[in-house]
Amino acid sequence: MEKAVVILSGGMDSTTLLFDIKQQGYEVYAISFYYGQKHNKELGYAEKTCSEIGVNHKVFNLSILNELAPSALTRDDIEVPEGHYEEESMKATVVPNRNMVMLSLATSYAISIGAKKLYYGAHAGDHAIYPDCRKEFAESLKESIRLCDWEGIELLYPYIDMDKGDIAIRGKELLVNYKLTWTCYKGEELACGKCGACQERLEAFKKAGIEDPIKYMDENVKEKFMNKSIYLDKEIEEKIKEMANKEQRSFSYMINKILSEELGDSK
Ligand SMILES: [Zn+2]
Repeated sequence: MEKAVVILSGGMDSTTLLFDIKQQGYEVYAISFYYGQKHNKELGYAEKTCSEIGVNHKVFNLSILNELAPSALTRDDIEVPEGHYEEESMKATVVPNRNMVMLSLATSYAISIGAKKLYYGAHAGDHAIYPDCRKEFAESLKESIRLCDWEGIELLYPYIDMDKGDIAIRGKELLVNYKLTWTCYKGEELACGKCGACQERLEAFKKAGIEDPIKYMDENVKEKFMNKSIYLDKEIEEKIKEMANKEQRSFSYMINKILSEELGDSK
């Protein structure tokens, strides 16, 4: 059986990817990294998912990243911002060059176990603020990874043109257990429902037409996202498009802005 390595964060995207490549018949080796992230409970979920579907799993300590590169994801003195991903404030969640460091180490691991393929779950929704999730980055690194060893390791990123909603649709087909995934950037007991990561997750479930099985601090947030259907009225849709044009923002950004304002108001 051909071996494949996958970087598994314990979030929705990489967990879906894990199911995807397992179904393709690879002997899968999942690796996760601890880099001081506040939301390190994702690692516990990664572990559970792997044991549930019988996949090898290793967690590597990368806390040096936290020391070298401050981010709201790792530092207690920097707050995780609330709001949509496209907002300027979300840039505080960038861990500089995280993906290159992880992919580089994952390549070493792949070579050491004789795997020829290395998968990672970067997707289109990430590109707005995470430069190392861009397709251009993946494409350029693909070449370096191919050349770093005589064996020619292949870097694959099948979700690069998909958004999180498309990934959730794929996960629905693959029967991914999303209860064992964690997305919220705050390291609380329950998902906050307000940070960019939570909002994007809720949007994805809405697009896939399935209910998010995890619990939120305010359970109503789920229902509100699911039931909110501002697409129904053509006139409203046109108005939102106009507003988006005027503010030079995307349509989905405007929708989210309106949604989060409404969700905030009802509290
Ligand atoms: Zn959150």
